[in-house]
Formats: sequence, structure tokens, C-alpha cells
Amino acid sequence: MRENDFLDWIRTRGVAQPKRVPVGPGDDCAVVGLGGERLVVTNDQLLAGVHFEPSVEPRLVGRKAMNRGLSDVAAMAAVPVCAVATLAAPHGFERENAEAVYLGLREAGDAFDCPLVGGDVAGWDGPLAVTVTVAATPGSSGWVLRSGAKPGDAVCVTGAFGAAWKGTRHLEFAPRIREARLLADRYRPHSMIDVSDALSLDLWRICRASGVGAEIDASAVPISEDVPAGDFDARLSAALGDGEDYELLFTLPGEQADRLVREQPLGVPVSRIGSIVAGERMTLIADGSPCPLTPNGWEHEI
Ligand SMILES: [Mg+2]
Repeated sequence: MRENDFLDWIRTRGVAQPKRVPVGPGDDCAVVGLGGERLVVTNDQLLAGVHFEPSVEPRLVGRKAMNRGLSDVAAMAAVPVCAVATLAAPHGFERENAEAVYLGLREAGDAFDCPLVGGDVAGWDGPLAVTVTVAATPGSSGWVLRSGAKPGDAVCVTGAFGAAWKGTRHLEFAPRIREARLLADRYRPHSMIDVSDALSLDLWRICRASGVGAEIDASAVPISEDVPAGDFDARLSAALGDGEDYELLFTLPGEQADRLVREQPLGVPVSRIGSIVAGERMTLIADGSPCPLTPNGWEHEI
């Protein structure tokens, strides 16, 4: 079973009470009506052996679990409100390790005024698993979806990409909550996603949700210092396909992108890496010649 096929099937099922659910399954968060307000909500799990090496310090596991949820909230330009978490601990898991997971969850949430308000703990025969649900509220400019990209938009990213697994970046990244809100308030992106599974795959998700294609300039893709020096094509393919970068990928009108790249207001560099085009093809332009850009990255085989 492939993750994306299963998720596609879920999307075909719709949701109960669709009038109360402005954004259902298929984006970084769902949006649900709550009286006159809106609740933005997301859920992520973190599994030993899948999302982190079992040798990783428990405190970093807690941090990453919370920050992944917060990164999805950032992708909607929403404001975190609170979180709940579950811990499935292997039998014999030491109390001090459980405390360290909790403290990691706490410090990551507290950094964004997102209190951990509850959860559940169980022991089992499997590996360590931490699941986090983050509730949020829309920012003053509303939410930003994957589906709003328009032909002519510039494609922009925060930060740099590739080899996040080599160092500790995949464990210690900062979710782009403040950056996303500033973008939404001042530059009005048409679409946005956080890059968890890989730049090319998450760009494909924006293209598919928006019914558009994209042209990416190979020389404009910011490549992380974590990517080993050497052959440019190998470095570029790490940036496009490795994943776990937790940066923002977004599209906005070209003149807004020009202003954003000139002003660099986020504290983290913003790069313009290409354009949205009509159609559904993703193209990589290297040395002036186009070739297909294949979505490539992390997808669970179940
Ligand atoms: Mg996401």
C-alpha cells in the first residue's frame, strides 16, 4: 500500500458535516467551524526507526514531535493555541526518558505559546512513538492553502534544502510560525506548504492541489551546507529529494516576490526558485535546457 494512494482514497470519501468543515483532509491542517470562530487542527506521529534513529536523545524526539505539528500550523499561516500528545513507550522505557520526551514537547510548544494541555501514555511491545495534535486559530489574514497557486506566480522558499538527516537539522529545526504569519500579512501568498517530505514532492502537492505546473531554475535552488561538496547534479538532487527540511514553500504574484526577495524581512533567507505555469508539468531548467522534474521524496510504503 502506498501512502499517497490511501490518502487519495480518503479524500474521495468527503467528511461528515461538510458545512462545518471549510478545509477537510488534504492540506497541512484542517479548518473546522467552532461557533463563530474557526479551529485549525493537525496531527502528526513520530516513530522510532522511521522518523528518527532509536539512538536519538528522548528530549530531541519530544521537540521534533511538537515542531512537526507546529510546522504544519505554519504552513497555514495560523497561530498555535494548544497541543495534546500521546506517548507509546516500549516496555521497560525508563521514567527519566519519558520525562525527557515530555520536556522536549514542552519546550518546543512553549517557544510558540502553545501549551501542552493533555494526552495519554501507554506501554507496548513496539518502538517509541509520539503523536502530537496541535490546535490553532487562523491568523489575521486568514489561512493559506496548497490549492491557491496561479500561473504567473513566483515560487519561493525559506532557508536551504538537502541532507537534513546528516546533521541534527531534522531534529532541531525551528518551525516557521512567525515567518509564515509575516508572509501572510505583508505579502499575501496564494499557496503554501511546509517542506517535510522533499522540495520536489511538496511542490508537486501544491501543483496538484492547484491544477497548475511549475518551472524551477536549478541554479536558484538553495542547497544546504549539510549537503556534501561535489557534483552539482548530486547536490541539487539532494536538495530536491531528501526532505525533512521543514522550510516554507509558497507561491505569490511576481511583483510581491520581487519585493519580498529585496526586503528579506524574515530573518531567514527567502529565495525565488521558479514560476508557476499553466498545465500540470513540473520542469527543471538547468543551463537553459528544460527537463522533467520528477516528484521525489519521502513517501511511506505501508
Ligand atoms: Mg505539512
